[in-house]
Amino acid sequence: MPEAPDLTFRPHHVLCALGFQGNGYSDRFTANMARIVDNRLRAPGGDAVMIRIIGETDDICGPCPKRRGRLCTSQARIDRLDRAHAAALRLKPDEHLSWGAAKARIRARVPPGSLATLCAGCQWRELGFCETALQRLHAGMD
Ligand code: SF4
Repeated sequence: MPEAPDLTFRPHHVLCALGFQGNGYSDRFTANMARIVDNRLRAPGGDAVMIRIIGETDDICGPCPKRRGRLCTSQARIDRLDRAHAAALRLKPDEHLSWGAAKARIRARVPPGSLATLCAGCQWRELGFCETALQRLHAGMD
């Protein structure tokens, strides 16, 4: 039996967690994501946090104003993002991996400069935080 996960992530939220810099869809959304990313993944020992990959709304989606049950008001675009990220990171449904392993997967499979394609259609990419975080990861700074 795999270890019980601490968090659930849909595939594209692995990269979102890497790039998060306090932006989001509402105050409640941002506070929840900060609890997940800043207080857990980026806290001491965060690389050991276990994540289960799921194909629907996850722990980041929870308080999102765009969530409708297990779906999203932007479902078609989100499905495209999830498919692209699952393929790039070779994530399988119900896969369990640590945050440290997820970052190693990003380092191995998502080169700097690739987000324009991988994250096409995401409103947050234009802020540049995700590319900066990706470059830092590749430089061994995270
Ligand atoms: S926009 Fe959709 S996929 Fe993104 S966090 Fe909100 S509910 Fe989840």
